[in-house]
Amino acid sequence: MLQIRNLHAAIADKEILKGINLEVKKGEIHAIMGPNGSGKSTLSSVLVGNPNYEVTEGEVLFEGQDLLELEPEERAHLGLFMSFQYPVEIPGVSMVNFMRAALNEKRKAQGLDPIPAAEFLKLMKQKRELVELDNKLASRSVNEGFSGGEKKRNEIFQMAMLEPKLAILDETDSGLDIDALRIVAKGVNELRSPENATIVITHYQRLLDYIHPDYVHVLYKGRIVRSGGPELALELEQKGYDWIKDEVKD
Ligand code: ADP
Ligand code: MG
Ligand code: MG
Repeated sequence: MLQIRNLHAAIADKEILKGINLEVKKGEIHAIMGPNGSGKSTLSSVLVGNPNYEVTEGEVLFEGQDLLELEPEERAHLGLFMSFQYPVEIPGVSMVNFMRAALNEKRKAQGLDPIPAAEFLKLMKQKRELVELDNKLASRSVNEGFSGGEKKRNEIFQMAMLEPKLAILDETDSGLDIDALRIVAKGVNELRSPENATIVITHYQRLLDYIHPDYVHVLYKGRIVRSGGPELALELEQKGYDWIKDEVKD
């Protein structure tokens, strides 16, 4: 589904990603961990098409297509979803209208008619219940005045509504409360199917108590320096990141 080959990227002329290689297949969950400042959020920003980052080398294929050539909305239409570390507020746009527009954009790109009103409302209710999002929040402007936990819940709600092929979730380094973690996990576990894949980016092992990744990668100084199974996350939890830093130094 996703092939990242020798990806280098820079911001403000500073090289942050220094040759990332990663392959994600359908049905897989990958966790990317690593110390602060390693480039985890940079990687997700590049994948989603944030124009502040310059790709200087390498390629990214999504279902065989050159992802880096596409506009962010084209990437979304192909089924890429990204949850940001800091979700944006959109004053004046209600959640309901925002979701309807997003869903219909995606359907249009697939050659489908807009979703019928009754079907849309049923879907909203079903997904709202999944992430335990209060109906009152759904009638408010997108993320405006939402707490950190509510924003996160809202992001997962959007993901559940759009049913992306590949979801990339960048978690806050400051950490989510236990309820938010549980909701994120529920959304990811619900999305899980042989057709979909998820990349979970997280500083802490905690989230991985709820989401069980098939593969764990450690990103450090712009490179993936270790890859393994879930046991790698447990090792990091016990030993911290210092041993990785020491080994990489050598
Ligand atoms: P992580 O998500 O792993 O904590 P980031 O991708 O946020 O790491 O950051 C990687 C590096 O890129 C850090 O050294 C950070 O200071 C730098 N960086 C991020 N954004 C900018 C920016 N807008 N301008 C300059 N440097 C940046
Ligand atoms: Mg950080
Ligand atoms: Mg980050």
